[in-house]
Amino acid sequence: MIDLLNLPGITPVDIEQVDGELVIKANTLDSNIPKCPQCDKPMHKHGRRTNVFADTPMQMQPTKIEISRQRYRCRECKTLHVPELPFLDEKRNATKRLIESLNERCLSKTFSSLAEDTGLAVNTIKGVATDFIGHIEVNVRFETPTFMGIDEVMLAGDYRCVITNLGTHTMYDMLQHRTQDHLKPYFANLPDKEKVEWICTDMWRPFKRSFTEYLPNAKLVIDKFHVVKMASEALEVERKRYQSLLTKKDRLHVKKSLRWMVLKRPSELSPAETYELSVVRSKLPALGQAYDLKEAFYRIYDCKTKEAAQQAFDNWKAAVPSEMKGFASLVKTIHNHYDDIFAYWDAPISLTNGYTEAMNGVAKVANRMGRGYSYEVIRAKILYGKLARQIGSKVTVEPILPEEVEHATIGRFAFNKTLAFQTTPTKQKKTVVEYGAHIPTLVKMAEDGLLD
Ligand SMILES: [Zn+2]
Repeated sequence: MIDLLNLPGITPVDIEQVDGELVIKANTLDSNIPKCPQCDKPMHKHGRRTNVFADTPMQMQPTKIEISRQRYRCRECKTLHVPELPFLDEKRNATKRLIESLNERCLSKTFSSLAEDTGLAVNTIKGVATDFIGHIEVNVRFETPTFMGIDEVMLAGDYRCVITNLGTHTMYDMLQHRTQDHLKPYFANLPDKEKVEWICTDMWRPFKRSFTEYLPNAKLVIDKFHVVKMASEALEVERKRYQSLLTKKDRLHVKKSLRWMVLKRPSELSPAETYELSVVRSKLPALGQAYDLKEAFYRIYDCKTKEAAQQAFDNWKAAVPSEMKGFASLVKTIHNHYDDIFAYWDAPISLTNGYTEAMNGVAKVANRMGRGYSYEVIRAKILYGKLARQIGSKVTVEPILPEEVEHATIGRFAFNKTLAFQTTPTKQKKTVVEYGAHIPTLVKMAEDGLLD
């Protein structure tokens, strides 16, 4: 029989089809008679033992190997011994190569599809995945971001803290909770913490100042996204107040669209909405003014320098009527966080957590697929899934240093030291630097239904 198993120490003797599975019967090859570990005397054959192990699918079918192994016994002390087969994972009743291929796939395929492919129980797949995730968490290290974003997403029934690299648009980590009790020890134990130079987050984060004691070089920028959102919220306050003043006829005209219309930027308005806005302006000039205030506030972020932005804010503030309570309270909030908001113009790149916002879409898909998956598994699927991780990584190529040339070979010819200084070595070192899961790729995968 052809050795279709290609596993050392066993040979297939029969193959049959049982309930949609391929069952390959195999015997161990004769090995040396083992010695009793206690008496140091040769043991004696003592019947055979047969066990069934799951193997990688063959011919697109779940495959089992039924292995019959010689058993040995010591006549002196009655110790029983079954020679070990190194390719087996006895804990899982499976071959190691099956476990390895499950490790490869468990973050990108559903557990139930893997169970179907291999004939293993879903709970067994879950156990393999849990072990593998534990292994990744110990062994995979993403580069600590210089530009760090901190935000939150609703995932698997709770708000999770998402830590991103704003320079590479990758997700660096995800914490189970967003409380100080979780964040403080996290930052205290962060590797390469001196690398973090900027942190972008919203102004309500409870730990706001607490990270500074752990991250010596980090400066805080309040996320522009959260800042301008407050102008939209202030406009909402005015919109509700004035909408009730419209006549019944006018209200019919703008009722449905008014809320969304005023939240849009002028460039996002359709011609019909632009017209409706002009109707609003004529009927309710104060609401028109509130809309303009919102817009003027957004435009502060178009300023190229910090001084210009601060000047624009001062001008804007002077235009806010005191009766517009929403905007008046926005002025106060800006002053309370003034330095952290205007630090935006000190950062060498435009820092915003817009990418984390995109994670909400990914989380929505993950929550849908998430039935039956624990938070830990969903987190691992997002953070450690192969595709997004690969795209979020960088290959750096370094030339060989002269002192290393002695050991390098080019083609089939060994280099020697004398030659090394006459010729530039062409063989280069490649290292992959990992930054985490590429967020735009995650978003695309979620849209394409590839995230499960
Ligand atoms: Zn013995």
